[in-house]
Amino acid sequence: MTQQLTDKYGRNIEYLRLSVTDRCDLRCSYCMPKGFKDFGEPKDWLTFDEIERVIRIFGELGTKRIRLTGGEPLVRKNLPELATRLAKLPGIEDLSLSSNATQLKKQAVPLKQAGITRINVSLDTLRADRFKEITGGGKIEKVIDGLIAAKEAGFQPVKINMVAMRGVNDDEVEDMVEFCIKHDFTLRFIEAMPMGDTGREANKQYIPLSEIHDRLAKKYTLTKANMNGGGPARYVRVDDTELRIGFITPISQHFCDTCNRVRLSVDGTLYLCLGQDDSYPLRELMRAGITDDELKEHIQKAIDLKPEKHEFSEQPGKLVRFMSMTGG
Ligand code: SF4
Repeated sequence: MTQQLTDKYGRNIEYLRLSVTDRCDLRCSYCMPKGFKDFGEPKDWLTFDEIERVIRIFGELGTKRIRLTGGEPLVRKNLPELATRLAKLPGIEDLSLSSNATQLKKQAVPLKQAGITRINVSLDTLRADRFKEITGGGKIEKVIDGLIAAKEAGFQPVKINMVAMRGVNDDEVEDMVEFCIKHDFTLRFIEAMPMGDTGREANKQYIPLSEIHDRLAKKYTLTKANMNGGGPARYVRVDDTELRIGFITPISQHFCDTCNRVRLSVDGTLYLCLGQDDSYPLRELMRAGITDDELKEHIQKAIDLKPEKHEFSEQPGKLVRFMSMTGG
C-alpha cells in the first residue's frame, strides 16, 4: 500500500525536483555567478543506481511527480538512460524536465522515448544580443532549435519560463506572448527571487506580476484557465488563441500554504524549501548501507523539518545558495 508523505502543516508532499548535476553551460545573471568554479565532485554525486533507489522509495511514499533539473540537466551524461529507469518506477505518474534547451536539439527524441512527458525551458528574451548578455555568452539560436525539436518530438505542452526583470526584458513581454502564440508554446512569467547574491541583484529589477497581467489585459482578452501539472502557476487563456499564460508569484502572492514539493540536490541533500536552508543529507546514509525502511524513516524525519514558508521578503539577505544549486 502506498504511504503518503505529509509535513507538520498537513501538506502532502507528492512532487520531487531532482537535480542531476550542479553544472551548466550558461551563466544566467540571476543564477550562477560569473566565473563560478566551486562545483561538487562527481564522486560525491548520486550515481544512477542511488538515484533510482531513492526515487523508488519516494514513489513508495506517495510521491507521484518527478522533475529533472540541474544546473542544466542535459549536461549530465546518459540522461535518457536515467529517465528510462525512473519512468518505470511504481507510483511515478509524471516525469518532466526543466532545461535551458541549448542541447535539446540532439536529445529531444531520446528523452521523449525515455518517458519524459513535459518540458519547461528557460527563455528570458527573444533578442540574440540580450540573450548573450543575460546568459553570459549563450547563443539563442541553440535554444530556439531546441524548442522546435521538443515540439517535433511530441512534447506537449512545451512551456517557456521567463523571469520578468524591470529594465532588462520587460519591454519584450508582448513579443514573447506573440512568439508563444505563433509556436503553440505555453508561457509562464516568474518573479525574480533573492537567492544568493546573483538572485538578490536580479531582485532589484523585481516586477510584481500583477503589473504584467494588467498590462497584457489591456491588449488581450484574458480568461482564467487551468492546466495540468503540480506547479504553483496561476493560468489565464488568451481568447481566440490556444495560448495559456501562467504567473508564478513567490514574492507578491506566495503559494507556500499549498506547497507539495521538496528538492534533492545532485549530492543527495534533501532541501525542504527553496527559500530556506533546512536540509537533510541522504547520500552518506545510503552509502552506509541503511535499509529501505530506514531510508523511509529518514525521509519522513526530513519532511517533519519542512519550513512553513519562505522569507524572501522578510529576510532577502538570508539565502547564500543560488538557484542552480538546487535546480530552481
Ligand atoms: S518557498 Fe518553500 S514552502 Fe514556499 S512553495 Fe517554495 S518550497 Fe514550498
